[in-house]
Amino acid sequence: MPTARVIGGGPAGLMAAEVLARAGVSVTVHERMPSPGRKFLLAGHGGLNLTHSENRDRFVTRYGTSAGRIAPMLEVFGPEDLREWCATLGESTFVGSSGRVFPQAFRATPLFRAWLARFEALGVRIERRTLWTGWAGAAGATDANAPADALLITDADGQSSEATADVVVFALGGASWPHLGADGTWVGLFAERGVEVTPLRAANVGVRVEWSEVFAERFAGTPLKNVSLAVRGQPGEPRRGDAMLTRTGIEGGPVYASGAAIRDTLDAGQCVLEVDLRPDLTVGHLTERLRQRRPKDSASNWLRRSIGLDPAAIGLVREAGGGALPSDADAMARLIKAVPVVVAGTMPIDRAISTAGGIAWSEVDENLMLHRMPGTFVAGEMLDWEAPTGGYLLQASFSMGVVAARGALAWLGAESPP
Ligand SMILES: Cc1cc2nc3c(=O)[nH]c(=O)nc-3n(C[C@H](O)[C@H](O)[C@H](O)COP(=O)(O)OP(=O)(O)OC[C@H]3O[C@@H](n4cnc5c(N)ncnc54)[C@H](O)[C@@H]3O)c2cc1C
Repeated sequence: MPTARVIGGGPAGLMAAEVLARAGVSVTVHERMPSPGRKFLLAGHGGLNLTHSENRDRFVTRYGTSAGRIAPMLEVFGPEDLREWCATLGESTFVGSSGRVFPQAFRATPLFRAWLARFEALGVRIERRTLWTGWAGAAGATDANAPADALLITDADGQSSEATADVVVFALGGASWPHLGADGTWVGLFAERGVEVTPLRAANVGVRVEWSEVFAERFAGTPLKNVSLAVRGQPGEPRRGDAMLTRTGIEGGPVYASGAAIRDTLDAGQCVLEVDLRPDLTVGHLTERLRQRRPKDSASNWLRRSIGLDPAAIGLVREAGGGALPSDADAMARLIKAVPVVVAGTMPIDRAISTAGGIAWSEVDENLMLHRMPGTFVAGEMLDWEAPTGGYLLQASFSMGVVAARGALAWLGAESPP
């Protein structure tokens, strides 16, 4: 019976393990933590957004410059396949009002419990508290024709041993929320083998803003509802949704979705977000309404009555003007359509939902096999791609798990299960 070792028990690794086991391969999963799937379970706390229901053409654009590599993997295992797979685990799915797809139970726990039971039934061994620390052979670029070096695995007692298998799938994740297991320490180990790795950076992360003490005190924890965000000087559609003010900055969907542009402008020197507080109204419409100011209205009452701004939005306009507000309707309308917020930096990677960077696409073939290490596959967030929140992260991780496993089966000369 052929053997496989899967290193990393997150969604990508476990999906690879399932596909391999179904094809009759003897599978061992090595997970460093006391239990697998910790990030998956955390992702389910506020509602497990598994994938998205939008059409395929739109869906693939979410992967930006990696769309060309990920699109064929969605053909192999796409959003509908993922929903069917959930159903086979007893969890039907539903489409939320934003088009996002969730399991019926909303949380991840029932689905994950059923999945673990399936592994038992398939005979997959999940070896917990086993840390992969590298390869037994000497470091340096490997010879593609040499047999693969043994894996070094350290168990819970700190004992190191060598492990071999006919195929290996690495799915070690990125480096966000490191206490859940994925901490990016694999980067150096792969780099020593000559594998090109783009530096890991925070993605889907809030930004730091140096708010005045008064503003931070009053509005931290308050949402800016239905706003649109643009990054000054960057092309591309403004990102719409609810943003959340925090004591030290701003976070939420539209900020995360602007992540790549924010990083680029920060790298180039300065990043200014332009917040459109009334994206449904033009400057002309706003000006018209703002002209209806009653003589005795304070500035706050004027903005509340004429264009319906709430206190947090009014506070943001004041903050941008250093406390002062324009009294002219046209100038005010222009400000409300693009309130400038100077970004001091991004929040650290350990607070990020996901990671940009990782193993370069040029290092793997279409089956996610490393050119430098035949028989060794990589999947999930450890590859160099990123996507906004909305279910695109889990979808791609699952899809890559399937593709890597099928690639491994083809390498073994075995047939893929349906
Ligand atoms: C708070 C939060 C909420 C999220 N919500 C969503 C959401 O709703 N929808 C969505 O699509 N995505 C969401 N994500 C992102 C999603 O969880 C990840 O993209 C996904 O888990 C990546 O899967 P992966 O298998 O590649 O990596 P991971 O899930 O990170 O799994 C990697 C595994 O490898 C193990 N490991 C690492 N190094 C070693 C080693 N040396 N030896 C052995 N084991 C090792 C780790 O312990 C870990 O279990 C969320 C993330 C966070 C942090």
